[in-house]
Amino acid sequence: MTAVVYTPLLAEWLALRDELATWVIHTGRSKGRPTGGPALVAGVAGALTDGISAGDVVVATEVRHRQSVVPCRAAELVAGELRRLGLTVHAGPIVTTDHVVDSPRERHELAASGAMAVDTESGLLAGDDGLTVVVRVVVDTPSQRLRGIGMPRRGAQALKQLRRTAPGIDAWAAATGERELLLATPRSFCAGVERAIETVERALETFGAPVYVRRQIVHNRHVVGDLERRGAVFVDEVDEVPEGSLLVLAAHGVAPAVREQATERNLRVIDATCPLVAKVHQEVRRYAAHDRTVLLIGHSDHEEVIGTVGEAPGHVIVVANAAEAETVEVPDPDNVGYAMQTTLALEEAAETAAVLRRRFPNLTGPRKDDICYATSNRQAGVRAIAERSDLVVVLGSQNSSNSRRLVEVAEAAGTPAVLVDDAGELTLDRLAGVRRVGITAGASAPPALVDALVHCLSGLGPTTLTEHGSLVEDVRFALPKEVTQS
Ligand code: SF4
Repeated sequence: MTAVVYTPLLAEWLALRDELATWVIHTGRSKGRPTGGPALVAGVAGALTDGISAGDVVVATEVRHRQSVVPCRAAELVAGELRRLGLTVHAGPIVTTDHVVDSPRERHELAASGAMAVDTESGLLAGDDGLTVVVRVVVDTPSQRLRGIGMPRRGAQALKQLRRTAPGIDAWAAATGERELLLATPRSFCAGVERAIETVERALETFGAPVYVRRQIVHNRHVVGDLERRGAVFVDEVDEVPEGSLLVLAAHGVAPAVREQATERNLRVIDATCPLVAKVHQEVRRYAAHDRTVLLIGHSDHEEVIGTVGEAPGHVIVVANAAEAETVEVPDPDNVGYAMQTTLALEEAAETAAVLRRRFPNLTGPRKDDICYATSNRQAGVRAIAERSDLVVVLGSQNSSNSRRLVEVAEAAGTPAVLVDDAGELTLDRLAGVRRVGITAGASAPPALVDALVHCLSGLGPTTLTEHGSLVEDVRFALPKEVTQS
């Protein structure tokens, strides 16, 4: 299956033919595709709103022509690649018309349908298999019309911008091909994350915006952005919240000092701390009550660990790994307990705990290690697909501890892995020559991101999709009473 680039206009073909390693065909205004398989239509187009400027790139998510609508499934992957080249890129529907559209009225009517740009060829060249990508550089807009002043200069600039897309187009061509997609089960949201998000949603419904949230409610850029749009205001510290306001505490938990600050500011507090994190806080308080030193296995800069340490600052020593466990000193080796961050890599944490047990034979620990069920299950799931994959893609944010651990687990199984916030962040060079892609998502990453990635990958060539693992998680946590009793 050979990827092909179609350029309807001669000027577009001339702009790209020497820049691309991919085969480029000058099509004219062909009726029907010259070949099957992955194709990319490249050229210029008109923008339908002034929010898109001349020189911007529009990547079609679908192409509309007369009554037909053709999906362009790889759009977000290509749009992300072009953004990384420094281009301003919009992703949305492109409409193909049978005549050149220039009047503001006609543009306005097409824009009202949700389309971003208009051309006269893409709808004729796009196959209905979802494997066509359309990349158009804007040459005219409602206020900078085709027949307006400055058109020759804008035309030349648009072709220059079109040349700049060449490395992205070649990366797309190299990434096309047949693929097997392996989905890890379980993946994505855990019960603690669902509870935290629903807590903010219910607080917004019940008390109205703004609802203040200290730090990210869960470590995911998409979740935070969505709640922000709905009226949540994320702050770093309690003193940024106006006195008397409503404050939600994030899933990772906080030190008691934070609650005291909130009380001093007369804030109404709703605590969305995951009950499994709250359990670790309780353990630390219990150890401290017996004047035990607590060795907390975890990452000292992670918010969960900062909150847990805050339960008994004078008693807790954070131990990052087995090497630190070998050297840590405590005041009384016979009066030591240990606890863990909930989102650690299982093997690494077990190794660290084993060193502590050897060094402190009277070490007291939790009945069951503190790594939570969601972390354990997702790590087992990714391990199972990593063995069968050429590349593992983990959906999650860089500050998500459990997502980063999933990358480490895949790599430990000998498979390259990458952590991305969404499909648009996945660089196409990672996919070149890769036939089996394992996919999972951290406990804070929405399931819709997995669906979107699968959709995008299926736009690079024929795909088969298989689910691996059958574990069903039925853990549910009750919501805080403040959002259920109002
Ligand atoms: Fe709770 Fe585990 Fe989810 Fe963290 S990952 S919120 S500890 S269930």
